[in-house]
Amino acid sequence: MATIKEIIPIANQIIKDYDLCDSCLGRLFSKQMNLSSNKLLGKKLKTSVRQSSKKCFICNNLLDNLTPYLKLMLDASSKYDFSSMVVGALIKPSIIDRDDYIRSKYKLRGIDSVKTGITKELGKQFTKKIKKTVDFLNPDLTFTINFKDESCQLRSKPILLHGRYTKSERGLPQKQKPCVNCSGKGCRSCNFHGISEYDSVEGKISEFLFNTFGGTTAKFTWVGGEDKSSLVLGSGRPFFVKIQNPVKRNLSMPRKISSDSIIVHNCKIISDPPKTPIKFNSSIELKISTENEIQSATMKNLQILLSEPIVVYEKSGKRSEKCISDLKYKKTSKNSFTLFIKADGGLPVKRFVDGDDVSPGIRQIINDKCMCITFDFLEIDLK
Ligand SMILES: [Zn+2]
Ligand SMILES: [Zn+2]
Repeated sequence: MATIKEIIPIANQIIKDYDLCDSCLGRLFSKQMNLSSNKLLGKKLKTSVRQSSKKCFICNNLLDNLTPYLKLMLDASSKYDFSSMVVGALIKPSIIDRDDYIRSKYKLRGIDSVKTGITKELGKQFTKKIKKTVDFLNPDLTFTINFKDESCQLRSKPILLHGRYTKSERGLPQKQKPCVNCSGKGCRSCNFHGISEYDSVEGKISEFLFNTFGGTTAKFTWVGGEDKSSLVLGSGRPFFVKIQNPVKRNLSMPRKISSDSIIVHNCKIISDPPKTPIKFNSSIELKISTENEIQSATMKNLQILLSEPIVVYEKSGKRSEKCISDLKYKKTSKNSFTLFIKADGGLPVKRFVDGDDVSPGIRQIINDKCMCITFDFLEIDLK
């Protein structure tokens, strides 16, 4: 650490050669003196030397005129929930060049750059004004002040939510097709949401979330999937969703949110993403039809599903095993039956019924052409 006595000679030399504002002068020495206010130090250093105080050679007095930029920041952030923030800046290269020039001319090492000086000062003044904190690592809001065109850009930290949904009517697909214009990235025509229609489970939930939290895109992690014609009953299918650039982040939601046949249950903001892969069990009711009349004796063969794992072969050559832990069946007509299974999550239900790349499958066991009419989810349990 240096004392003020040690730095006065060089400080005086610099002031003699260049007009500097208090902030820029103080910044050149505040680190080695372990002081936090550049401005106060600069002022102190100048008391011993008379300076005409014209334009600051480095910043053109930008540091003394930050008020318009604070106003930009206040306006941009007025609708946002946040408790911490950080400021970044785009600065005219000429300012940076002059700062570099002074630093190298007087061999000043390990000091803040003029850009850091400006962003630190903006953060300090802004947080003082509205009683928030500066957080460099994980701020709620990130401001980028563009000093070239006097604009302020804002990004807000994503929020993560967890909930479940039930679906009481057939016909709605689970996933939403991305906006055709941007394939989901977000563009002006989809209002930066990445989707432009809201006619799916994803769409209905997204619509509610955008209306509640604001934000641009919503990225879902589903715990399993279903068909357009499936129902999702019981306590519902769990999902996780990340909302980019939310405006609100401190809301609590009602326990139930309904949008037509979709009800979202217990949707809450969570702090950590789920551990992947997510392990779960599904209780599924399948309605299956056969080409020929079903023999009761053949149906008994379905019991085999409880005694060995079901092997699923993918086109890619990948192979996985799923277990069934519970099984019931009931003949409903001479060529249809209902099958209830509790299975490891991710069993491809339709292929399990009619395919030959899932083994043992229903068609192989019944030894007849089988068709899955519908499959409904009665319960989904996270393991
Ligand atoms: Zn300056
Ligand atoms: Zn788009």
